[in-house]
Amino acid sequence: MKAEPTPSTLAHPADEGTPVSVKIRERIRAARKRFHANDNIADFVQPGELEALLDEVEVKMQGVLDSLVIDTASDHNTSDTARRVAKLYLNEVFRGRYVKAPGITEFPNAEHLNELMIVGPLTVRSACSHHFCPVIGKVWIGVMPNEHTNVIGLSKYARLAEWVMGRPQIQEEAVVQLADLIMEKTQPDGLAIVMEATHYCMAWRGVKDMNSRMINSVMRGSFLKDPALRREFLALIPKD
Ligand SMILES: [Zn+2]
Repeated sequence: MKAEPTPSTLAHPADEGTPVSVKIRERIRAARKRFHANDNIADFVQPGELEALLDEVEVKMQGVLDSLVIDTASDHNTSDTARRVAKLYLNEVFRGRYVKAPGITEFPNAEHLNELMIVGPLTVRSACSHHFCPVIGKVWIGVMPNEHTNVIGLSKYARLAEWVMGRPQIQEEAVVQLADLIMEKTQPDGLAIVMEATHYCMAWRGVKDMNSRMINSVMRGSFLKDPALRREFLALIPKD
C-alpha cells in the first residue's frame, strides 16, 4: 500500500511562501542585532540561503525594471539584467555583508618589530549607502607594533579592507569599521588609516564634479598621543 505524504513529511510546510529575507531579518531581530547597510549579517544566513536571496532579489529587481517601463521581454540587452544586478549586489559589491570575515592567520611578533610600518595604497571599492553609487579610492594603513602585537601578512590587510568596503558604506564609518577590525586582529600600539576616494554620486549625478575626492583618517593609540609619529606617517604617504 502506497503511503500518502502527510503534511508533516513535507519540507517545512510552515516556511512555504515566507521570503528568505524575512526569515533572516527575524533571526537578527531575535538576537537584537543591527542590520544597517554596512553591518555584516553572515551569522544569520544559513547554508543555501544566499542562493535563495539571489532568487528573491532577482524577482524584486525585475519589478524595478518593470516600473521603469523597460521592455525586458523584447530588449535582449536587459532580458537578464534583473539576475545580473542581483548577483552584482549579493556576490560582488555587497558581498562583505553576507560572508564571514576572511580567515587571517596571526603570528606573534617574534622579531620584536617596533618600527612604523605602512601598507598601501590599497585600492578599495565600495558604494555609498545613499545612492548605491560607486566609491573608489585608496587606503593607507600605518601600524605601530609592540611586543604583544600579532603580525599578519601584508595581503591580509587588503582582504580585511575588501570585506569592510564590500558593503554600502559611508566613508567616515568605513574607515572606523576597518580600524576596529585591524585593532581587534593585531592589537598594535597604534594604528592610522587614511582613505582617499572618489564618490561617483558626485560625478555621475548631483553636482557632476569629476574631480572631487574625499579624504579622511582615523588615528588610534600611539598615533593619537604622539604628534611626531602622526607627522611621520602622513609625510611618508605619497602625495599625487
Ligand atoms: Zn551617494
